[in-house]
Amino acid sequence: MAASPPCLNAAVSQRRRSLDGRALPRVLAIGGSDSSCGAGVQADLQSIAANGGQPVVAVTALTAQYSRGVTASVPLDPALVVAQVEAAYADDGPAAVKTGMLANGATVELLVRQFRATPPPILVVDPVIRSSSGAALLDEEGIEALCARLLPLASLVTPNVAEAEAIAGMHVLTLDDAKEAGRRILAMGARAVLVKGGHLAAAPATDLLVTADGALGFAGAHFPGREVHGTGCAYASAIATHLAHGCALDQAVRAAKGYIEALIGTAVRVGPGALMADHVAAAQMVQEGAR
Ligand code: PLP
Repeated sequence: MAASPPCLNAAVSQRRRSLDGRALPRVLAIGGSDSSCGAGVQADLQSIAANGGQPVVAVTALTAQYSRGVTASVPLDPALVVAQVEAAYADDGPAAVKTGMLANGATVELLVRQFRATPPPILVVDPVIRSSSGAALLDEEGIEALCARLLPLASLVTPNVAEAEAIAGMHVLTLDDAKEAGRRILAMGARAVLVKGGHLAAAPATDLLVTADGALGFAGAHFPGREVHGTGCAYASAIATHLAHGCALDQAVRAAKGYIEALIGTAVRVGPGALMADHVAAAQMVQEGAR
């Protein structure tokens, strides 16, 4: 039987590369710190590692969270965010950059300036606006700067239904709506858009990848009632890592979606609210499935 391409089997390829003493592709995650470790850069770094990348992070804000939501959030000085990104570039430059919670307009503007000066080879933008529990994670100036100046630099934007609605300015209820929202976001300058169907009433587990070539649906397993905190962060980070490995966009999305399904399937209860992801268990499940 032919071997799976490495992008479909990253947990295995990661171990092989580490045993060989070879460097893994570095993936820079820029986002908020989530004290519960379910979302934010804590989810990013676990997802990057589990999918075969070497994580490096730049924290934009400190948040206190538990399974029911965000109890405190303080943005960091944007100059400190830039210093962290510059520090990441002081070693071998990252093969891919992923952004998540950017907190405010000042941080978005400084990052845009930095990305224009040193364009990341791959830029995955998870356009985080609110947490599932309703806490604002990006202010109004930040939303405006993200739409006008960050999206045009993105290789891929990964909105969920609520984010697609906010950015595209329309209701998204069906796959046709998701396609139209994706086209509108594409017209804002992004090279590709993945509209995630996790909360799409008409097709709850189908994600839609919209590019200049058309739209491609990714149907997946649906887990009714299993709300897992931070899956959006983990998904975008996994895609960025597979792209950093050299995978084509559709292969990277397929591999990352498989990982997220394992993450939802293995998540555990830690409190009264959303379930907590276990990235080690998910990586093990993907690895066992690949054998
Ligand atoms: N906290 C931080 C720091 C995040 O970056 C995000 C999402 O990107 C969230 C919370 C929201 O996660 P969830 O929607 O699963 O609550």
